[in-house]
Amino acid sequence: PQRNTHVSEKAPKNISVFLRVRPPIAREITGKHTCDNLQTDPNDPTKITLQKKADKSAVAKTFSFNRVWEKNTPQKQVYEDFARGAVDAAFEGLHGVLFVYGQTGSGKTFTISNEDKDNLGVLQQSMLETWGRIAKDKDSEYSCSVSYVQLYNEILTDLLDPSKGRVRLQTGAEGRGDVVMVSEVTGLGIERTVTDYLQTMDLFRQGMERKEMQSTDMNTTSSRSHTIFSFHIHKATKIRAVTASSGDGLLPAVVALEGRLVLCDLAGSERISKTHAQGELLTQASFINGSLLVLGKVVAALIDKKAQHAPFRESKLTRLLQYSLQGNGNTNIVVNVSPSDDNTDETLSAIQFGQRAM
Ligand code: ADP
Ligand code: MG
Repeated sequence: PQRNTHVSEKAPKNISVFLRVRPPIAREITGKHTCDNLQTDPNDPTKITLQKKADKSAVAKTFSFNRVWEKNTPQKQVYEDFARGAVDAAFEGLHGVLFVYGQTGSGKTFTISNEDKDNLGVLQQSMLETWGRIAKDKDSEYSCSVSYVQLYNEILTDLLDPSKGRVRLQTGAEGRGDVVMVSEVTGLGIERTVTDYLQTMDLFRQGMERKEMQSTDMNTTSSRSHTIFSFHIHKATKIRAVTASSGDGLLPAVVALEGRLVLCDLAGSERISKTHAQGELLTQASFINGSLLVLGKVVAALIDKKAQHAPFRESKLTRLLQYSLQGNGNTNIVVNVSPSDDNTDETLSAIQFGQRAM
């Protein structure tokens, strides 16, 4: 095994963690379970209290997050709190990484990429913002590309490839810590050039359909895989400056920046017992819980000033994101939870994951 990567001691990572409680869905409203276990605090939007009301002896536990979004919080506010800083980072030549964590059905995909135009997800809002900024910036030339991969049982596949070719991770060229994804079919890097919003969203949608097709073939694949959408910005800005000979003019010099915005829709965090997994399914569940566990350890190590090492190498997910997570960019996590008391155990475990990153 390769040596873990050293984490700079002088730059502890600033990671924001949000909690989002989704509204009850139809079956929860009509079913026998109640949705009154989670209480937000009207005077303090950073607090959430969990108490299983059906259990008379259950004690109330209060937790803090950077912000708690109650069930009516609009997608626009979620974008502002959670994603805007990551988009800014990508334009400054840094990496913005956004994760949604939670059990299946808790609202991860709604948060990250809901397609309904009145309630657009964070990905769509980020891309609208990004292409809007690019259109307005007359002093820079941009070239942008996307990749969209699925990580299932530690196997990476390219969701932008119609044949869903396998993807290999390769350490980047000399001097760059970024790993490079290489298609096992063509041997080429798997980034696709994009020139506008519609084209970007078209690729995203094609990838999403490939993920969903697979879920009908292999029942739970879609909730058991991580998907990672990455938008790469290369920006070259001509320097406007006063020169002695020509007065106010353009110097031939350019400043080039490369930034990245990464959006991860993580696999469902539910434990194996709940899914009654056996055999093949059990293997899948242990892979998933394994990479979520490593992600938790990595995030905890990144924010802990004393941490010497973060175990990036222990999972493909964290290896893929190592360079993005290590830098001075912006990393934010949403912990999505269901309001139903049926899910209290999973809700508590998701909250505890988020607490480790605070
Ligand atoms: P996950 O991706 O975590 O499995 P989904 O995002 O698919 O969960 O959400 C499960 C269901 O709940 C979907 O029908 C989704 O539309 C709905 N839902 C989730 N979050 C919200 C929300 N904030 N507002 C309205 N509906 C939501
Ligand atoms: Mg989902």
